[in-house]
Amino acid sequence: MDKEFLKRTLSIPSAYGEEERMRDYIIEFAIKNYIEYKVDTKGNIYLTKGSEKMTQGEYYPCVVSHIDTTHKNHTNLIKNDERLKIDENNGILTAYNPHNGNQTGIGGDDKCGVFVCLSLLEHFDILKASFFVEEEIGMLGSKQADPEFFKDVGYAIQFDAPSANWVSEVCSGVKLFDEDFKTQITQVLAEGGYTNFSKDPFTDVKQLAQKFDFNCLNLGCGYYQQHSDKEYVVIEEVEKSLKMGKNLIDYLGIKEYIHNKEIKKDLLLEMDWQNDFKNYGLEGYDEYDECANEIVDAVFNMIKDGYNKEDIKYEVGELLFGKNIFK
Ligand SMILES: [Zn+2]
Repeated sequence: MDKEFLKRTLSIPSAYGEEERMRDYIIEFAIKNYIEYKVDTKGNIYLTKGSEKMTQGEYYPCVVSHIDTTHKNHTNLIKNDERLKIDENNGILTAYNPHNGNQTGIGGDDKCGVFVCLSLLEHFDILKASFFVEEEIGMLGSKQADPEFFKDVGYAIQFDAPSANWVSEVCSGVKLFDEDFKTQITQVLAEGGYTNFSKDPFTDVKQLAQKFDFNCLNLGCGYYQQHSDKEYVVIEEVEKSLKMGKNLIDYLGIKEYIHNKEIKKDLLLEMDWQNDFKNYGLEGYDEYDECANEIVDAVFNMIKDGYNKEDIKYEVGELLFGKNIFK
């Protein structure tokens, strides 16, 4: 792994709504490496490597990261085109403001992800990469992800979580991948030390998993204490993350992995509400209280199972009419 390249990437200041320095940096990388790129009206950047090698029926792997950070106190550095001072101590990287020498957030969230994506672009002959703006303020960039760019993508891997043992399975109620995809990759992930599957608030692949029909993944890439001045990066873990990316793409290849987003329609049928309530000794509940509780529980379960908003609406409607309270 090119450690100096990692440090250089981390030294570029960027904040939500002020991603121009990082955008320039990525475009410069693309030009230098003869990689096709485009920037959409929102400011997201899309890189495509190896289009001349692609044949019918092949799909690109796509790597993903976001180019904003939460560190709004870097605005002056961005405006003046200055760099953060990166310090290395015992394999740990931290950042300092070049003017006053105070520690400041290094922005490993998600500049570690940017570094991993760029390194993977150097490594592979065929690869797409998308770099989104304004992830930190509600995924505003990826909400406008370009469908044209993603139409020949077979799967997407984002690098945007702490540590080097973190796999997001569900992002704010959206399942990023199907069970059969999970079965396929579990062994490869485990060999790279990625065994911890978790439910997380959000990141860009949540938008991609909702908008498009390929399986997505989000992996830890070695940052800690994100969103704070104390944020730091563990070099060895960034390296593990990069290696994991290489192994996964080698293993999955240039194929399509359709995300079926299977919805367990029988979930509600399985629930025998009346008996549950009797078993808990709650017969005294009046009909409306009971119905309200059932709906709240059902909605929680549906979110847990990765239902999307439209399906939840539909099921709640079915549940209400099924309860016969509209007399
Ligand atoms: Zn992030």
